[in-house]
Amino acid sequence: MIDIEHPSVPGSRWLGLEHPYAGRVAVLATKHGKLPLIGPPIERAIGLVVRDVDVDTDVLGTFTGDIPRMATPLKTAIAKARMGMKAAGVDIGLASEGSIAPDPTVPFIVSDRELVVLVDDSAGIVVWESYSSWEILAATTTTNTVERLESFLERVDFPNHKLIVRPNSGAVHPVYKGIDSVDKLAIALSECVTVSADGLGVVETDLRAHMCPSRRSVIAKAAESLAVRLASRCPACGVPGWGRVDVIFGLACVSCGTRVDRPRAEIDGCVACDHKETRIVATGADPGECPVCNP
Ligand SMILES: [Zn+2]
Ligand SMILES: [Zn+2]
Repeated sequence: MIDIEHPSVPGSRWLGLEHPYAGRVAVLATKHGKLPLIGPPIERAIGLVVRDVDVDTDVLGTFTGDIPRMATPLKTAIAKARMGMKAAGVDIGLASEGSIAPDPTVPFIVSDRELVVLVDDSAGIVVWESYSSWEILAATTTTNTVERLESFLERVDFPNHKLIVRPNSGAVHPVYKGIDSVDKLAIALSECVTVSADGLGVVETDLRAHMCPSRRSVIAKAAESLAVRLASRCPACGVPGWGRVDVIFGLACVSCGTRVDRPRAEIDGCVACDHKETRIVATGADPGECPVCNP
């Protein structure tokens, strides 16, 4: 095997010119138009042909909260991929899953973490990558009239980003989704205001992938990361999906040797065998970051 960088995937570890997925077919389980985001980077990197299959992934939980999610994002994504594989009768499947929530480390910031997974039941492997962003436009407000929404609509990039409207209290219906014009917004709001116990409607961003362009770019970045990982093959067994599995913290200060809480090395691993390799990512911490040199 030849160990060179893949021509279209910088940083990848490409063993030989023929990837085991070249020319094979995978199905992407999606209701929300994700094929143009996930298919092209993977096809470009490894030659896997990606087709979409329309399955009702909403039974695994929805963004709009109608059906709560029960499992972790990774488990949900794997379950979605298998739904598509079963529906299409194909043994390689792809799916993505997003988690949009207040960032646990930064107050008042909403973060979007998108995960894309490949499940190959013929090889018995699961390969996934994720990408996180704070660029997501997610917001909610209450009002009784569309006239009061001017700054909100500007902030959420309406109508590029679509909206959901529902009653604020007492009633759970009606729920209007995918609202893309001021006229539709006004009609939906007046109906929700009428049935709501407090005379207010909730107006919020519709976070489903086909309604939320700021999510779509994050899904595309996660797919690009997965493409790099699939192009990288285990140096021991050749199976695709070689990449980072762990990070070792504790970088020594270059001046006094005190351990600083920063990554010193990354461990790469295989999804099929036990082979692992340690990669040094930094050799010394700047004294400016050291609690002894710069208390
Ligand atoms: Zn120091
Ligand atoms: Zn291996």
